Amino acid sequence: AKAGGGNAIQCTTLTLSEAAFERQQMDAFLGESLVKNEMRIFYQPQFNMEGHIVGMEALLRWQHPVLGAVPPSKFIPLAEENLFIHTLGEWALNNACRQAAIWQALSPRPIKLAVNVSPVQLASPRLVDYVARTLRESRLSHSCLELEITESSLLKNSDPRHTPLHDLKALGVRIGLDDFGTGYSSLSYLQQLPIDTLKIDQAFVRNMHPDRPGVISSNPIVQTIVNLGNNLGLSLVAEGVETQAQKETLHAMGCHSFQGYLMGRPMEAAAMGIHLETQINT
Ligand code: C2E
Ligand code: CA
Ligand code: CA
Ligand code: CA
Repeated sequence: AKAGGGNAIQCTTLTLSEAAFERQQMDAFLGESLVKNEMRIFYQPQFNMEGHIVGMEALLRWQHPVLGAVPPSKFIPLAEENLFIHTLGEWALNNACRQAAIWQALSPRPIKLAVNVSPVQLASPRLVDYVARTLRESRLSHSCLELEITESSLLKNSDPRHTPLHDLKALGVRIGLDDFGTGYSSLSYLQQLPIDTLKIDQAFVRNMHPDRPGVISSNPIVQTIVNLGNNLGLSLVAEGVETQAQKETLHAMGCHSFQGYLMGRPMEAAAMGIHLETQINT
C-alpha cells in the first residue's frame, strides 16, 4: 500500500511539474512576444441595423513560432498573473488608438474603438496616466475610445469611490461593461459608476433561440438587459451574433448594435481598412 501511495505521489509530481514547465515556458515566451513582433491586434466590426460599421473591438492575437496561435483565453490570464498585462495592455491601447485615429480621419462618421482593459490594469494607478498619454499621442477623439471593463474588476475594488473610472471618464473616454449579467453584477454599479455601454454577453445571445431541447431560452433575460440599458440611457451592443434570427430578435427588443460572426469576424487592420473604405465610398 505504501509503495502504491508513493507511486501516486510521484505521478502527481510529474504531471504537476510538466504543467509547471509548460507554464514557465509560455511565461518566458510571452515576455518576449512584443520585442519579437509576435503580437497583432485584430479588429472586429460592430454594425447598426442599416449595415454601417459604427464601431470595432480591438482583440489581441499571439502567433508564436513554436506554440503556434495562442488564444487570448490562455495568455491573458498568464499575463495578468506575471503582470506583463501592463506592458501588453499599454501596447494594445497605443497601437489600436493610432490605427483608429488614421481611420477616423478618413471617415465622415465617428467610429467607436473598444479596447479591453483587464481587472489588473484597472487596479493599477498607472492606467489613467497611460490612457491620457495615449490619447495625446494618438490624437484620437477622446469620445471615440471606449474602455471595456468586466464586472469582476468592479468587484475587486468594490468601493465605488476608489475606482479610477471617474478619472477615466474625466478624460472624455467612454466606459463599457463587458459580459454584462454573467458575473455578480449589482444594479447599483450602474447607478454609481459612469458606465456608457452595456455589452450583452454572447452566452445570452447564443441561447435566445436554443437549438437543443431542454435549454431554457434566454430571451426574457436579454429583453430585461435591453430595457434596463434603454431606460438608463445607455448604449447597447450585442456580441456573439451568429444568426439572422438572433439579430432580428435583438433589434425587435430594442438593441441596435451588433457584433458577431454573422457580420464579421475579427480581422487584421488591413482588411478592416478595406471594409471602412468601401463603406465610405458607397
Ligand atoms: P471578449 O472581450 O468577450 O471578446 C469577445 C470574444 O468573442 C472574442 O474572442 C471574439 O473573437 C469572440 N467572438 C466575436 N464574435 C463571435 C461570434 O459570433 N461567435 C463566437 N463564438 N465568438 C465570437 P477572443 O478574441 O478569443 O478573445 C477572448 C477574450 O480575451 C476576450 O473576450 C477578452 O476578454 C480577452 N481579450 C482579448 N483581447 C484582449 C486585450 O487586448 N486585453 C484584454 N485585457 N483582454 C483581451
Ligand atoms: Ca470585450
Ligand atoms: Ca464580451
Ligand atoms: Ca467574454
